[in-house]
Amino acid sequence: MSDRYQGFVRSPLGRLLVKNLGLPNPAPLERYSAGEPLVKGEVLVGGGGRLADSLVGRLEGLDIAAVAGEPGDDTRFKALVFDATGITESAGLVALQAFFTPLMRRLETCPRVVVLGTEPGEVEGAQRVAQRALEGFTRSLGKEIGRGGTVQLVYVAPGAESALDSTLAFLLSPKSAYVSGQVVRIGAHGSTGAGEVLDWSRPLAGRIALVTGASRGIGEQIARVLHRDGATVVGVDVPQAAGELASLMRELDGDHLALDITHSDAAQRIAQHLAQQHGGVDIVVHNAGITRDRRLANMAADRWESVIAVNLTAPETITRELLAQRVLNDNGRIVGVASIAGIAGNVGQTNYAASKAGVIGLVDSLADELDRGITVNAVAPGFIITAMTAAVPFATREVGQRLNSLSQGGLPVDVAETVAWLASPGSTAVNGNVVRVCGQMMMGA
Ligand code: NAD
Repeated sequence: MSDRYQGFVRSPLGRLLVKNLGLPNPAPLERYSAGEPLVKGEVLVGGGGRLADSLVGRLEGLDIAAVAGEPGDDTRFKALVFDATGITESAGLVALQAFFTPLMRRLETCPRVVVLGTEPGEVEGAQRVAQRALEGFTRSLGKEIGRGGTVQLVYVAPGAESALDSTLAFLLSPKSAYVSGQVVRIGAHGSTGAGEVLDWSRPLAGRIALVTGASRGIGEQIARVLHRDGATVVGVDVPQAAGELASLMRELDGDHLALDITHSDAAQRIAQHLAQQHGGVDIVVHNAGITRDRRLANMAADRWESVIAVNLTAPETITRELLAQRVLNDNGRIVGVASIAGIAGNVGQTNYAASKAGVIGLVDSLADELDRGITVNAVAPGFIITAMTAAVPFATREVGQRLNSLSQGGLPVDVAETVAWLASPGSTAVNGNVVRVCGQMMMGA
């Protein structure tokens, strides 16, 4: 399951070939370990708009060292945050060049860049044009930055200025190691006073989290990270995986339910279990998924049906049941697991891509109708190194892993960290987003 190419490029022969042949040179990515500071280094804040004044204080509240203004000549930075909300016309975009150009050679390894803007649809005329332009800037810088760096654009709705913390904590930390080139939207949704995180090292303390497909792969890591962040995890998986599921949940002091989520009474059983054993649920992660690949010319109905049933109909049915029975608590979090295939399409995956695009549709359809401070979002993983991708033929796997700005595959923990951010009580204003965990894959950008 390991990425042997990454090992090779760090050998003496590998280094020589990378240099002389211009081969991809993936930087080792930093990842978060419990107990570490969110940012190991200093953050420079720049720009000027409605957010700039409060940013340093906001970051210091997260125990992140931050400074604003002209940096000293020899200071190096771990992250840059630029408030671009004050840019009201295209000529003003030069402020990006003026701020970033002198800093690009003064970044530490695995640097983070976050540009803050205003959702173009919220403003008009020249300001709308300028705010839309930010997307091209951040996506290109994501492809240029190198050395394991990531770049994101966060559109902050007017009125949502105080709801930024959980998103900054995620995007500036190594938790977002494999998330780059994304546009995140923070709205004025919810805000029933539930956005408070008391302890940033255990933001999910006291929360009950349902994770489907939790016995292995990405689901196992989601369970581990939610547990690390303080949640009690209720894992679900098929009866055939009951042994692995039970032992993992024992290790995490959680609870489990062995059932097939496509079974006609599955949603009801899950709702009943959560209500009776846990008094409800706060976080629902629809992770269970399957592939049954065939080109459409060779696609049998059962392959089509089983993929749609597991990946799409079950998440829909379970969500509707938990909402209808009010088992999903106020300020609940629903997180779907889509896929890059659901955005870009993939040969042999008409069934899978339809199911995963449908997960995005579920986010879109629920985002506007949810109340009680409940949010719905999805992650869309790209090439994640798991048992599933280890079975992909070597050449296809190599190409799949390199075709992104970080020139490597992601790890299940990268998806899990992204889920944990969306699941945070602090993410009350993050609603209706689909965040790709794909290292800024070139496919379907
Ligand atoms: P995996 O096969 O390792 O794990 C999936 C889990 O879901 C398994 O434990 C399986 O038993 C469980 N499951 C399947 N059908 C079920 C059912 N009917 N009821 C209950 N549980 C069921 O896969 P993974 O790679 O960890 O993928 C997890 C999710 O991430 C899936 O939704 C997948 O589509 C998505 N994803 C994975 C990748 C990747 O690169 N690995 C990329 C994009 C999206």
